Amino acid sequence: MDTLVRDYLERFGVQEATTRFLNKPQKMFIGGEWVRGAAEEALDVIEPSTTGVITQIPLATIDDLDRAVRAARTQFDGSPWRKLKPLERERLLHRLADLIEANATELAEIESIDMGKSAAQARDVDVQGTIDTFRYFAGWASKLHGRTVEPSLPGDYVAYTRKEPVGVVGIIVPWNFPLQTMAWKLAAALAVGCTAVIKPAELTSLSTLRFAELVQEAGIPDGVVNVVTGRGGVIGAALARHPGIDKLTFTGSTNVGRDVGQAAVQDIRRVTLELGGKSPVLVLDDADVDAAARAVANGMFFNSGQVCDAGTRVYVQRKIHERFLGALIDYTRTLKIAPGLDPDCFIGPLVSALQKERVSAYIDAGRREGAELVYGGRKREEAGYFVEPAIFAHCNNAMKIVREEIFGPVLVTSPFDDIDEAVKLANDSPYGLAAAIYSNDVNRIHTLVPQLRAGSVYVNAHSTIDPAMPFGGFKESGFGKDLGMEQLDHLTETKAVWITLH
Ligand code: NAD
Repeated sequence: MDTLVRDYLERFGVQEATTRFLNKPQKMFIGGEWVRGAAEEALDVIEPSTTGVITQIPLATIDDLDRAVRAARTQFDGSPWRKLKPLERERLLHRLADLIEANATELAEIESIDMGKSAAQARDVDVQGTIDTFRYFAGWASKLHGRTVEPSLPGDYVAYTRKEPVGVVGIIVPWNFPLQTMAWKLAAALAVGCTAVIKPAELTSLSTLRFAELVQEAGIPDGVVNVVTGRGGVIGAALARHPGIDKLTFTGSTNVGRDVGQAAVQDIRRVTLELGGKSPVLVLDDADVDAAARAVANGMFFNSGQVCDAGTRVYVQRKIHERFLGALIDYTRTLKIAPGLDPDCFIGPLVSALQKERVSAYIDAGRREGAELVYGGRKREEAGYFVEPAIFAHCNNAMKIVREEIFGPVLVTSPFDDIDEAVKLANDSPYGLAAAIYSNDVNRIHTLVPQLRAGSVYVNAHSTIDPAMPFGGFKESGFGKDLGMEQLDHLTETKAVWITLH
């Protein structure tokens, strides 16, 4: 850890456990062992508000990956894990949830230091969401069942279906909610009896490595959960194509998702793709303007806009457009920009120098295309990957800033006149992850909901997420669901059993 990071941690007084974890050499978790891997080289991990080096993570080689897949395969093919009774799996998952809860502040601090996000939000959202997800899916371990069927064929049969775990699951996740997104995939996989190889994002692997220590402490058998770290184009691509993987569950950009999906089709491997978004928000003229403005700003600038379902395209009914814009700007002004460990931080730095440049380039493009920058958008020149939230007005759907996923704190607005026009504008995107409606008119809400081509529709709020509700996109935002009972279907095979009676 360099002095920039050490000073930062001291300034905000992080827990001793956090500093201890960050100071130790990071290793991968393969077959129950902690290993550096075969590569000589390692990857620097940067703290985004100081740009100091926190530590290094190993770069897995193909041999390391093979060992991880073999370990997961051995456990799946009949070792202790597959022999556990459902209630025993359930108990282990609850024990893991208890350990996450007991170490919640440390995990939140690690997430904040690694990724840049607010530590308070990491505690309340990322880590709490992780605990809830493990508890929710723990309960499913003992409630999975097939059904009996009465066939109409001549003769006598007993016919029933069995739900069986799909096998070894490859998990690839992005950097914006590293722990929580991993949990969304792993908890359900373990509940149904699968084993897993996880590849966290190279920018943010640390919380997953700390989590793997808790997996071990919970008593989950060695080899059931494995973590390999390294570059997406190398080790992620190799995992996506690995013949030892039965199911790949990927969250990330649509471009990479396309490659992962192609590899899956080639090998007839099961795949879930949770991809990019550019979610529309419709503010109708009967909405509570101030409440809507607050919710829209929170739904856009939370996690510095690095949220897949962020409400980025905001269409406001003309009658209230100017009033709404004023309220939106006033409220956004109150959101504090600060390093993630600052207890008052709402908007932290972006995750990397590259992301800072990408987002700033989009803000420049918006200006060039003639959109009116009505608030913020300044790239901070001081150290750290800070970009002020930007609000553009009078945009149109042909503009790059309206069409493309920016994945940063950039909100675009434009007025609409009637509901038909609003639906057209909202659906005019290759993405279909989420949409939001602000209105107090139950008739208008229920008329709009079925017309919006999106995997989640939020009304009078944004990103209300719960492990019992499925999450996943329409159109180029992917297919398959994480969370909810729907996810269980993507992690099990249904076997039809026919017994002919004589
Ligand atoms: P990314 O696609 O660059 O990377 C995602 C993961 O894939 C990382 O772990 C990366 O190392 C790995 N990867 C990179 N190249 C790979 C390859 N060729 N083969 C296999 N794996 C590879 O995405 P990102 O920049 O980390 O994250 C941002 C993106 O994730 C945004 O598009 C965002 O919308 C999306 N996202 C979607 C959801 C959702 O639930 N739909 C949630 C969060 C983020």
